Amino acid sequence: MKCPFCGSTNDQVLDSRPVEHTSAVRRRRECSNCKKRYTTFERPEEIVLMVVKSNSSREPFDRKKIWVGIDRACKKCQISAETIDRLVSEIENEILSEYIMEISSTIIGEKILEKLWDIDLVAYVRFASVYRKFSDIDTFMEELKKLKKEHIKRQKV
Ligand SMILES: [Zn+2]
Repeated sequence: MKCPFCGSTNDQVLDSRPVEHTSAVRRRRECSNCKKRYTTFERPEEIVLMVVKSNSSREPFDRKKIWVGIDRACKKCQISAETIDRLVSEIENEILSEYIMEISSTIIGEKILEKLWDIDLVAYVRFASVYRKFSDIDTFMEELKKLKKEHIKRQKV
């Protein structure tokens, strides 16, 4: 297993348990290099996580789509390809260990926003504006207010 934090392939399995009603196994691992802990979800090939989109259509989960979305939002920001790759791995790992059969695209979007919030506020707004579509100016202003507050909070730290 590749550690989502440092990329090391040396890890130790701390706990291993089958997921009810499936032949999948959830494993709690600790990276031998950076000592961080993470969960992996090992599913047999035939169990594919499906993404339910807002128009109710479904498609198989695809890590590449998350990559493209984040990469687009991070253009012109000071974020390295390495950081984006780490973000995508973190999100993918969370999704695959928390959801078994299906996940709504909304949850994926919110997870991406959560990560971007901690990394780069400009990228966050860009992603949010595409993803939430900011259908009206009020929603957009609300988001900006939230960001401004967060920005002030960060300066005080
Ligand atoms: Zn590690």
